[in-house]
Amino acid sequence: MSLYHNLLDFFFPRTCAACGRRLAEDEASLCVPCIRGLDRVGYGGKDEHGALERLFWGQLPIERVTSFFYYSGENHQNILHNLKYFRRKEVGQDVGAMFAEELLDSGFFEGIDGIVALPLHKKKRRQRGYNQCDYIVKGICRVTGIPVIKGAVERVVNNASQTRRSTIERKENVEGIFRLKSADLVAGKHVLLVDDVLTTGSTLISCGRELAKAPGIRISICTLAYAGEFGNGK
Ligand SMILES: [Zn+2]
Repeated sequence: MSLYHNLLDFFFPRTCAACGRRLAEDEASLCVPCIRGLDRVGYGGKDEHGALERLFWGQLPIERVTSFFYYSGENHQNILHNLKYFRRKEVGQDVGAMFAEELLDSGFFEGIDGIVALPLHKKKRRQRGYNQCDYIVKGICRVTGIPVIKGAVERVVNNASQTRRSTIERKENVEGIFRLKSADLVAGKHVLLVDDVLTTGSTLISCGRELAKAPGIRISICTLAYAGEFGNGK
């Protein structure tokens, strides 16, 4: 580590995005115990019955779906909060890259032509200053070498936070909030759609339906966290 980095680390210590402990020199965003302790969904493992894929059956031309870890417990939630609300964009990139590395040998990325980040509404993006999903995508691209597809779809309705709504309300609330901007960018391709958290899947379905207006498209989905009922945190 250079003197500059030593000083920087002294005055602004880098901390684990999950537990808040100070990071060692060779750790990025998460400390080793937190990486080990992640409650993984496990593509092709615990999720062997394709429970996450089933959320999208009959809704989208869906190929594969997975999440990295269960959104359960304070440490897991801290990772997402740091990425989304505390401007720690590098967390998206670092954890996205870890996720991709663990998935590499599973065949999950096989045949995927391009990656689309779930878009934020312009207004929300201005407020936050960035789209957290762009950073998860960067991490995945760094590991897989799959190109990013930008500008295929946009969010046209800036709906309020859905955390307190019931499933039925959520489903109604997400109709028509995205718009396919450029079908040419995704037509005939197998596209990976990336979001930070998967709950009922309704937002991803809404975005995926717009993408599916492009002829011959196939869609896979991955998110950092899974906050739905399947697995119940275990
Ligand atoms: Zn930690």
